[in-house]
Amino acid sequence: MKVIGLIGGMSWYSTAQYYRHINELVAQRLGGSHSARLILYSLDFAEVEQAQREGRWDDAAAALGEAGSALKEAGADFLVLCTNTMHKVADIVSERAGLPLLHITDVVGKEIRRRGLHTVGLLGTQFTMEEPFYRARLEEHLGIKVLVPGKGERATVDRIIYDELCQGRVKTSSRHTCVKIISGLVGRGAQGIVLGCTELALLIQAGDASVPLFDTTRLHAEAAVDLALAGG
Ligand code: GLU
Repeated sequence: MKVIGLIGGMSWYSTAQYYRHINELVAQRLGGSHSARLILYSLDFAEVEQAQREGRWDDAAAALGEAGSALKEAGADFLVLCTNTMHKVADIVSERAGLPLLHITDVVGKEIRRRGLHTVGLLGTQFTMEEPFYRARLEEHLGIKVLVPGKGERATVDRIIYDELCQGRVKTSSRHTCVKIISGLVGRGAQGIVLGCTELALLIQAGDASVPLFDTTRLHAEAAVDLALAGG
C-alpha cells in the first residue's frame, strides 16, 4: 500500500472527513483490521485564509509547498490537497514537493463523465466558482458545461463556507438557503451539482436535491484509496 500525503486543515472539519473516509474505504477493501498508511500535514487555516483574502497566492503556495516537501521527506508517495480552492496553486505545490498530486477537479470530472452528464452546477468558494482554475479544467479538458449561481448567491455561499462551515457551524437556515440555490441551478439545466468545497457535504446531503450530488471530499478520498492500493 502506498503512503498518502494529506495536506489538510483547510479546514480541519473537512480534513477529519477525509481521514474517516480513507480509513473506512481501506478497511472495506482489505478487510480485518486494515487501515490507511497516511501522513497528515495540517495547516493553520486562519493563515491560509488571510493570504487568500489579501491575494497573496504565492505565500499560500509556498506554505503548501513546504508542507508537501515535509510529507515527501516523511515518506509520502503522492499528495492529496484537502480543499478545492487551494487547487488554484496545485501545480506549484506538486512541483515544489517533487511529488505527484491527485487533482480534485480531475477526480470529480471523471465521475461526472462516468455518470453520463454534460451540464453541472457548481457550489464552492467565490474563488472556485468565479476563477478559471476549476471551471476551465472541467469545461476545456472534459467538455463539461459548468453553471454557477448569480453574484449575490455566490457571495452567500462563500460566506456560509468561511464564516460557518470552516468554523464548525452547520445551520439549518443555511442548508435551506443552499437547497434553494441548488434548485435554481437545476431549473437552469444542471443535471448534477458539484459540492465543490470540501465542507459542503457537512451541510447538504443526497435528499437535498432532485439531481445527483458530487461530494468532492468523498470522491477525492476514494480516488486516493484507489491510487494507494493500485498495484498491490
Ligand atoms: N475547504 C474549502 C474548499 O474545498 C474552502 C476552504 C479553502 O479556502 O481552502 O474549497
